[in-house]
Amino acid sequence: MIVPSRLHAALLTACIALFCCMLLLMIRRYYLEQERMFKRSEDRIRQMAYYDDLTGLPNRRFFREQLDAALEDQRGIVALLSVDIDRFRLFNDTLGHDFGDLILLQSAERLTRCIAEGDVAARMEGDEFILLLRNRNHLEEIEAIAGRIHQIFDSPFIYPDYKLHTTVSIGVALHRPDDEPIDADTLIKHASIALSRAKDQTNSPYVMYTSALDIESYERLRLENELRRAIVDREFELYFQPQFDLATNRMVGVEALIRWNHPERGMVSPGKFITAAEENGLITVIGDWVLSEACRQIKQLHSIGFRGLSVSVNLSSRQFLQQDLADRVAKVLQKEGLEAEYLELEITEGMTMDVERSIDTLRRLNELGVRISIDDFGTGYSSLNYLRKFPIHKLKIDRSFVRDLMEDPNDAAIVSTIISMAHHLGLKVIAEGVETQEQLSYLNHSHCNEIQGYLFCPPVPRDELLHVLMKHA
Ligand code: C2E
Ligand code: MG
Ligand code: MG
Repeated sequence: MIVPSRLHAALLTACIALFCCMLLLMIRRYYLEQERMFKRSEDRIRQMAYYDDLTGLPNRRFFREQLDAALEDQRGIVALLSVDIDRFRLFNDTLGHDFGDLILLQSAERLTRCIAEGDVAARMEGDEFILLLRNRNHLEEIEAIAGRIHQIFDSPFIYPDYKLHTTVSIGVALHRPDDEPIDADTLIKHASIALSRAKDQTNSPYVMYTSALDIESYERLRLENELRRAIVDREFELYFQPQFDLATNRMVGVEALIRWNHPERGMVSPGKFITAAEENGLITVIGDWVLSEACRQIKQLHSIGFRGLSVSVNLSSRQFLQQDLADRVAKVLQKEGLEAEYLELEITEGMTMDVERSIDTLRRLNELGVRISIDDFGTGYSSLNYLRKFPIHKLKIDRSFVRDLMEDPNDAAIVSTIISMAHHLGLKVIAEGVETQEQLSYLNHSHCNEIQGYLFCPPVPRDELLHVLMKHA
């Protein structure tokens, strides 16, 4: 009788011991799992805090820490290369954000291939990347890397239907061991100032920061503030440049060209402020004003007897991308009482990259009865196939082809080809920048429909336009 109860006790003890072991194992596993989860979320938090979500590159914060360390442990030249993809915003807006993301991802990968071990490539924001090169001995090494970046961006980005070529701008800031000590933020700011200068300058592979550039960025900011004031104080004015029909010798239209009547600097041409206004977004306000004012003034000329005169208005890419562009134009026409057939809108080839969207916008403008012309034709990347599909009416041959028409046989051939191609597509052609009688004869001979240029009349203010109109009437 004793034996079985001992056996039971032994079995019970064994069971308890086994249970305890299992419990311990489970507790251990639980703690290990907790630790792993903790580690994972710690990594995730670190990833989020220090790396860019889209490209996986270090972000601004991490980059700053690395730069701090590089400046502290400086044994050679420390260089920052601020890199920005040219026309990225246009691609992103016209081709969609998915494609924009694709460009950013591929750019990150390309830039990483340009640097050596110990260097850092980071994404600062938007399409702005920055490279940190540590302890280099010669400037040539840094120049070589800038050259390599340009080279690597020579190959196109592949999109399902087509290849997209783009370029990059590079701003460089250096710190040599015997320079005055500098902090990370200041060096980053220097690279960014050099970059904004590089974006204006297409002929050099990079721009090196110098203290003179500080003045320029101050100037840019001042221009922006002045533009804001000019809008409020109504300092803009429209000039009009006549356009003539070659077959009838009649003045058929005018191009409205903005001028800035600056209180101190006098009349400022658009070349000096349109790009800045496009960059800071003020162009939409300015563009709205140009459209209303041009329609208002032409309607006035109609009402005093110059019926049949049309007006061409230049659109900026930001305006062309407005979803409600056709509605806005319709409202202006209605408010000013101008018939749509007397308004022509000028767009450039670069604005039509998103083909489907452009066709839709152009179709809606067409439905209003407004005409469309492609300005500066021949300088962008128009595909003939798309040109065929666009509901447009006129091509404006760029001034640069007309300028060298008589000296350069290639330009002469380009001009004749554009004219004959346009006619085959049922489009009219206007040549801009006609300055000499010889250019006029060539254009006449090539059956160009209309011309605009100093030979006949420069852009003039409204009162002078009235004289020109009376002379031609
Ligand atoms: P664009 O639309 O191609 O305008 C033609 C430019 O050529 C005008 O310069 C005009 O003055 C100039 N031009 C005309 N005939 C001749 C000529 O025979 N010889 C030479 N050398 N030049 C000639 P402008 O007025 O300085 O305008 C420059 C550019 O600024 C315009 O080029 C257009 O792209 C832009 N722009 C002007 N007004 C506006 C506007 O209201 N809105 C927008 N978005 N852009 C505008
Ligand atoms: Mg124009
Ligand atoms: Mg033009």
